[in-house]
Formats: sequence, structure tokens, C-alpha cells
Amino acid sequence: KAKDKGKNQYMFFNKSMNQEIYDRMYIHNNLRTALEENQFQLHYQPQIDSKSKKVIGFEALIRWETEEFGFIPPLKFIKIAEESDMIIKIGNWILKEAAKFSKEINQYNKDNYIVSVNVSSVQLKQDNFVETVKKIIKEAGALPKNMGIEITETSLMDNFESNANKVKKLRELGIKVALDDFGTGYSSLNYLRQLPINILKLDKSFIEDLLKNNNIYNLTEDIILMSQKLGLTVVAEGVEMKDQFDLLSNYNCDIIQGYLVSRPIPKEEAVKFIGPEVEFLI
Ligand code: C2E
Ligand code: MG
Ligand code: MG
Ligand code: MG
Repeated sequence: KAKDKGKNQYMFFNKSMNQEIYDRMYIHNNLRTALEENQFQLHYQPQIDSKSKKVIGFEALIRWETEEFGFIPPLKFIKIAEESDMIIKIGNWILKEAAKFSKEINQYNKDNYIVSVNVSSVQLKQDNFVETVKKIIKEAGALPKNMGIEITETSLMDNFESNANKVKKLRELGIKVALDDFGTGYSSLNYLRQLPINILKLDKSFIEDLLKNNNIYNLTEDIILMSQKLGLTVVAEGVEMKDQFDLLSNYNCDIIQGYLVSRPIPKEEAVKFIGPEVEFLI
């Protein structure tokens, strides 16, 4: 009888639940090895000036390719890494790689490119976060002014005062700080006014609705105008279509990022976009 019951209980544990738990366990158990065995890679997505159509910088995005499952999306494994101290180790590796890339692309150029890194709320929460960032950039031989940090609205808003203070310190070092995914979180204009950030990144869900929804269309123009009044640089992410580009460019959105320009690519390909002669034909 007990055996039958156990069997029934197991049946509740259906195939898709099983798969999800298995995936989580796989990721959890393999993050450390992945880091130690160099399975992570950073890809870089170019960002261009909407007027000159020249590259002004890159966003670093992590990639993990496994033998068993191919590429695992960052949104899936970052969340699991955040449940242990692995996000700190992986986060430091990301910063170091990106800083080395920043040094590499800036040393022969009179133009200053910015390499931006996404930072998890767990990293930001560390007491020594600012010191760590400073140290990693210095050890890589990069300059703080050629580095950017992207923080989502949601992670910035939890523990606002302490985080705002850290952001202020990063800025004092010369690092550019971007508010990522703007429009998906609290979107409080009052907070925005108080934030010591340099850059506002319009979330790609905004850009997706731009041509479909009149309210979004009008709102986007207002957000861009308001941001510029606050002295912020505005980046549109997820720009896939020429029509979106034209609209954003008309609204004086400063920087464009998205598949229309390029997908995130390995550094060997990204360096080909460097140099004053490279201009995108959009
Ligand atoms: P995010 O920082 O907002 O990054 C932008 C995401 O949009 C990236 O997805 C990028 O590949 C994608 N994207 C760029 N242009 C387009 C476009 O035109 N159309 C569409 N549909 N998508 C576009 P990805 O690389 O899968 O990363 C997803 C999220 O995972 C990131 O969102 C970020 O929150 C997180 N993430 C990625 N890399 C890192 C990392 O190195 N560290 C941390 N902490 N988080 C990361
Ligand atoms: Mg980002
Ligand atoms: Mg974003
Ligand atoms: Mg996003």
C-alpha cells in the first residue's frame, strides 16, 4: 500500500516539473566548473550614436555554452548564480574580462569607447562593491572613464539610499552608470531625479511597442526630453527595425543598440567595428 502511495506521489511530479528541477540542479552544480574551465564567454553588442552612426561603445553580455545543452540563456543561470556566492565570482570574472577588452580597444584609439557591464543586485549589495570594481579595472589596466556599469531599476530601488551612494562613488571614479530596463520597474520620475546616474536605457519592450501604440510613442518622446533635461544620455535597446531607428533618431535619442546594428558578438568580431572609418549604413 505504502509503495503504491509513493508511486502516486511520484506521478504528481510530472515530466515538465522534473525537467525544471533537473535543469536548476544541473546549473547549480555546474556553475563553478564552468567558471574554472573557461566555459563562459563575453559577447559584445555595439552601441552607435544615432546621428553619426558610429560605434561609441559595447555592452558585454555573458554566454555559457555547455556540451550537454548548448547555450543556456543568461536570464536562466544568472538567477541561480544569485542564490549562492557564485554570482560574485562570475561577476568579478565578467568585470575583469570587460576591463581587459576596454583596455585593448582604447589603447590605440584617440576615441574613447565605453565597455558596459551588467551588474547583479547581489553584487551591488556587497559592502566592498565599489572597491572591487575599482581594483579590477585598475589591475586590467583600463581606465574608469572607458567603463560603464548597468544596474536595473529594480535592483537600484531596493535599498535605495545605500545603492545611490555606491553609484555616486562609481561616478566619482569616472565610471558611467546606466539605469537598465527603464520602463519595466518602478519608473518613478521622482527617483530618477535623485539618482546620480549618467545614462538611461529604455527597455526593449518600450521599443517594441513604439510603432504599435500611440501612447507609448508620445510617452517615449516625453521620456527622452525629460531625461535630457536631467542631463542623462538616452540609450534605446532592442532596436530591430529601421522605422524604430528613424523615430528614435527624430526624437533625439542619443544612442541605439539592437539587432538592427548588430547582435552581441565575440570580441574578435567586435573589434572590427572599432575605428573612425567604421560607419553603419542604416
Ligand atoms: P539586458 O542587460 O537588458 O540585455 C539586453 C538583452 O537584449 C540581451 O539579452 C541582448 O542580447 C538582447 N537584445 C539586444 N538587442 C536586441 C534586439 O534587437 N532584439 C531582441 N529581441 N533582443 C535584443 P541576453 O544576452 O539574453 O541577456 C538577457 C539579460 O540577462 C540581460 O538583459 C541582463 O539582465 C542579463 N545578463 C546578460 N549578461 C549578463 C552579465 O554579464 N551579468 C549579469 N549580471 N547579467 C547579465
Ligand atoms: Mg544591460
Ligand atoms: Mg536592458
Ligand atoms: Mg532587459
